[in-house]
Amino acid sequence: MNKRDIIIIGAGHNGLVAAFYLAKAGLKPLVLERRSVVGGASVTEEFHPGFRCSTLATSAGPLLPQIINDLQLQKYNVEFIKPSVQVCALNHGAPICIYDDAERTAGELTKLSSKDANSYSDFVATFERIGRALRPLLTMTPPDIDAPTKSELWHLGKLGWKIRGLGKKDEYRLLRYGPMAVADLAAEWFANETLRAVVAARGIFGAFAGPWSAGTSAPLLLQAAISGNAISPTIFVKGGMGALTQALAKAATDAGAEIRTNAEVKSIEVKEDRVAGVVLANDESIPAWTVVSNGDPGVTFTKLLDYAAVTPSFRTRAQNYRSHGVVAMVHLALSSLPKFSYRTANRSERDNEEFSGRLHIGSDIDYLERAFDAAKYGDFSPKPFMEITIPTMGDPSLAPSGAHVMSIHAQFAPYKLNGYARVLRADSATGAGTPEARVPSDWDSRREELGDAIVDALTEYAPNLKALIVGRRVLTPLDLERTFGLTGGHIHHGEMSLDQLFAFRPFIGAAQYRTPVKGLYLCGAGTHPGGGVTGAPGFNASREVIKDLKR
Ligand SMILES: Cc1cc2nc3c(=O)[nH]c(=O)nc-3n(C[C@H](O)[C@H](O)[C@H](O)COP(=O)(O)OP(=O)(O)OC[C@H]3O[C@@H](n4cnc5c(N)ncnc54)[C@H](O)[C@@H]3O)c2cc1C
Repeated sequence: MNKRDIIIIGAGHNGLVAAFYLAKAGLKPLVLERRSVVGGASVTEEFHPGFRCSTLATSAGPLLPQIINDLQLQKYNVEFIKPSVQVCALNHGAPICIYDDAERTAGELTKLSSKDANSYSDFVATFERIGRALRPLLTMTPPDIDAPTKSELWHLGKLGWKIRGLGKKDEYRLLRYGPMAVADLAAEWFANETLRAVVAARGIFGAFAGPWSAGTSAPLLLQAAISGNAISPTIFVKGGMGALTQALAKAATDAGAEIRTNAEVKSIEVKEDRVAGVVLANDESIPAWTVVSNGDPGVTFTKLLDYAAVTPSFRTRAQNYRSHGVVAMVHLALSSLPKFSYRTANRSERDNEEFSGRLHIGSDIDYLERAFDAAKYGDFSPKPFMEITIPTMGDPSLAPSGAHVMSIHAQFAPYKLNGYARVLRADSATGAGTPEARVPSDWDSRREELGDAIVDALTEYAPNLKALIVGRRVLTPLDLERTFGLTGGHIHHGEMSLDQLFAFRPFIGAAQYRTPVKGLYLCGAGTHPGGGVTGAPGFNASREVIKDLKR
């Protein structure tokens, strides 16, 4: 059988980006995807007759501008929808909206506190500056920390120079923020509790961490590098995220890549310390010179690679890589837009602007930390931190006329349930509760209970919600693992904590997209700079593969 140039395992957006660049370099990549659709965590699916939505990621990272240009995504009719509202926090008083326009946001915040309004402008400008200085990091291959090459040291030096250029105040901020708990960072900037919670939310999005966990400010710095703002923007794609990955797939195939769906890789073959190809679930063997895995580090190193292919210490590192998911998704098919109880007389029912971005539920830092407490002890939170999107506000094509889709990203729902419903479930206000009760510890028997709890929690803010639900899909962390191949149900292919970032992502020995097996590479969110629909891991990995092949 002819040996393939390159096989890419997985057609997530990073695998597709890598396929495009490798094909552009004159190679003939074959992309093998286990599902019947490409896109990985960036897909659009019908979850109820006539209702479609982005099943997992709802908003684009954003994608690196260079990728948008190189792949000429406009040519493939990709339309980004950027609502004026990034996020709107609901609580039992007036909502707090963060707009795309920082001045407008500061203006609105003046109604709450002139001090917070002033701080907001400074906050935005500070993270914009820090983000600009850090941006080169996104497309940099992390150095080998045991033996950095001259070129790696040169790139690090250039980055250091950029950081020096920030001036002492921002430089110290940057150094302090990385290891800080995001609750502390938010409190340094703002007095309003809800505003603090909105800021803190970025630090714990998808993380097995609460706002008081150390290092939760680091994702804000990363977000600032990606988007120029610590609070991530909301960027929908017309037709859902699947429209984006369909376009990436088209760009890759137009460049010369081949994509096969329903092609699950069962194992990566290694001969004499060198990759030799892959074997599919149907036992088809495909020899290849190079294999690039878009599967997460858990999939690649503990499922697909033979035990003996790497050293015991490497394997231990792979096993110790933390990938405990905490996110559940609930999609609701709604007959109409729900009424939110916060709406006051001076707000018109027709003025729906605040629904156009993300809705945040988590009134204060304590609320977010309590939501995390449940996961720490192996149970899901009855009052979860939620980020809600109603994509039909900007893209009515996703539902029948007049109807809406509501997607709820809910934390915390831990991958591993301990089988006890704890006092948190009883009376979190007084601290008194019923004793622990034995409950099933498997997600299959608790999926709908989780869905009910999330809908109940949201009904506090939208009292008529239940009456409008005509269909629902609940996805637990186990579903994220089983259906989408995410180890431990982790949305970022592994925790984005300081010990698993940059030269430590996923871990030492595999942090430069290369692995100890010659010819085997990683290109997914488990590599630098991590999760989010940015395309950066795929872009960086393809560059390293091309570099090695040229050598
Ligand atoms: C619930 C959820 C919500 C999220 N929300 C957002 C958001 O709003 N904004 C944002 O920017 N990011 C979000 N993310 C994160 C973002 O979606 C991911 O970081 C990103 O999609 C990862 O892309 P990837 O290409 O690296 O991997 P993936 O998208 O995970 O793709 C990996 C692919 O590999 C395939 N695969 C795995 N094993 C095999 C095998 N053995 N054989 C063949 N194929 C295989 C999988 O089926 C999959 O298609 C979210 C993620 C989740 C899960």
